[in-house]
Amino acid sequence: MPDPTPHRYDVVVIGAGGAGLRAALAAASEGAKVAVVSKSLLGKAQTVMGAALAATLHDGHGGDSWEDHYADTVRGARHVNQWRMAQILAQEAPARVRELETWGMLFDRAADGDVRMAEGSGHRNARLARLGHRTGLELLRTLQREVSALGVDLYCECTIVELLTRGKAICGAFGYRKDTGEALTLLAPAVVLATGGIGKAYAFTSNFYDATGDGHALAHRAGADLVDMEFVQFHPTGMVAPESARGLLVAESIRNFGGILLNTSGERFMFRYVPESYRHEIAETAEEADRWYAEPKGRRPPELLPRDEVSRAMESEIRAGRGTPNGGVILDIASRRPADYIRNALPHMYRQFLDLADVDIGTQVMEVAPTCHFMMGGVRVDPDTCAGTIEGLFAAGETAGGLHGANRLNGNGISELIVFGQRAGIAAARHAKGSDDRPDADPEQISRTDHEARAPLTRASGENPHLLQRELQRVMQDAAALVRTEAGLKDALAKIGSVAQRAANSAAPGGAAANPAWQASLDLRSLLPVAEAVVRSALERRESRGAHVREDFPEADAALGRMNIVVQRGASGGIETLRSPRSEPPEALRRLALEEEAA
Ligand SMILES: Cc1cc2nc3c(=O)[nH]c(=O)nc-3n(C[C@H](O)[C@H](O)[C@H](O)COP(=O)(O)OP(=O)(O)OC[C@H]3O[C@@H](n4cnc5c(N)ncnc54)[C@H](O)[C@@H]3O)c2cc1C
Repeated sequence: MPDPTPHRYDVVVIGAGGAGLRAALAAASEGAKVAVVSKSLLGKAQTVMGAALAATLHDGHGGDSWEDHYADTVRGARHVNQWRMAQILAQEAPARVRELETWGMLFDRAADGDVRMAEGSGHRNARLARLGHRTGLELLRTLQREVSALGVDLYCECTIVELLTRGKAICGAFGYRKDTGEALTLLAPAVVLATGGIGKAYAFTSNFYDATGDGHALAHRAGADLVDMEFVQFHPTGMVAPESARGLLVAESIRNFGGILLNTSGERFMFRYVPESYRHEIAETAEEADRWYAEPKGRRPPELLPRDEVSRAMESEIRAGRGTPNGGVILDIASRRPADYIRNALPHMYRQFLDLADVDIGTQVMEVAPTCHFMMGGVRVDPDTCAGTIEGLFAAGETAGGLHGANRLNGNGISELIVFGQRAGIAAARHAKGSDDRPDADPEQISRTDHEARAPLTRASGENPHLLQRELQRVMQDAAALVRTEAGLKDALAKIGSVAQRAANSAAPGGAAANPAWQASLDLRSLLPVAEAVVRSALERRESRGAHVREDFPEADAALGRMNIVVQRGASGGIETLRSPRSEPPEALRRLALEEEAA
């Protein structure tokens, strides 16, 4: 039975990754009574895997500036992102990082004692801050301590399955405690969605188990717009073998430290795939590229092009039959650096390959292939307040869309959490302060949701939700991954529809307490609409741009480049897409990005 005693707050934050915790901290600092709900235990969020964040900490010195960061972000996004979000990110990330330092967050240091700035793909200047490979862990540790100090209530291992609405406004969230299966009702006039990405919609992903697109689906079901859902980033380097480790991330730092990509003929193929707009800054020969590794000045190696370019090049090689039998290409650092250097510079990757694949990367090559890594699309938000298109809803982090457009740059994912997490938290707290009307939940909505969500528990037999999830992942991997076609996408839509029908008869017998099959059926409530939204958006964008590649429309289309694809809930409750003109930046910012492109 639904929880008889709802818990009342000013702000409920769903998700305890970097975005959720930063939002909670900001809201609590504004004096709001705040709850954070997390599907997993505290500390188990995708953010923990983040290795670097992008910020022009030495703005005006060392040749970097927020304007450069802005222009790189827009160019990386292939000009279809929300320009104001890119401006806010570039301008505010340095202050958010300095603030983290005052809370005790550690970073690697340069000889002058300040934070050391590293190079990263798509950034023309060194602007990545790190703490070894533990940047995300350190960020979570820092934010968790600050949040606890402000008396924020934490609901761990609780899954939110529905946003509660009254009239046209949000009034709370409803879910279940994983350990007991008991219902949980949280009432608040402001809800911040920070549930991370959607990687689990694909068969091969670097994402962790909670990346099931819950925030995207919750927002959509509540009637909010989603945007840019066709843009799913595939990181170029995921492990391909053994099968159990397939998709696991192989850090970009291997390429930053000298690793090169080869096909099975031994060719360093990336030189053949440098797009016109990057030619002026990418080395033309192996000798020129190697000079950059010795001293990172001048033109960079082609392996450090933005992720979409590298992934696409790798996919072309694999499709042309020049890939390995496991469906990957070769990543080689062993022949280029001494084994001791590799062990010391890349300890995490060294252990990962030794433990999981029995490969010593100090002496042996790796096999890698693109892996689903990051969702650029998400809840359509106001850039300044992170407010969604329905009253009382806010979103930040990977759940929000707009900032990254067609492709995210390295480090911008973590910067986004601290910049927009803070803005979302402040705006949510202010919204709550101005809301005198604090309605109870609609009992009918709760009982309907409860009935639907618990239905698999009541069936003694039926389809296995885990197997349905796997089938859906295969459909998405085959039709909606790196290269897409109209026929493939239409076929995927039909298959998603079939999985959805069968999911309506899935069974998870055994009771609601700690029942993984039931959790999988709840995940399907999100994965299915998210998959459909990706496929419908991909059908609508009849061009190739950034991470979205249509084999049947291989070129970028200037008219579509001025459009965002928006996903809405149709009158009958179905998923609909529409083209919406994207907002144009002011002339000075427009010139910044175009001058960079023309340079
Ligand atoms: C392997 C890997 C390495 C990466 N490295 C980098 C990097 O170096 N630099 C960079 O910029 N980006 C990186 N990224 C991307 C970046 O880490 C993520 O985009 C970012 O951490 C997402 O943070 P978030 O706060 O939005 O969500 P997350 O950190 O994923 O947190 C989501 C939270 O929501 C909770 N949740 C989900 N659904 C529900 C629900 N229904 N109810 C309640 N709670 C729920 C989860 O339990 C979790 O607490 C990397 C990503 C991966 C996968």
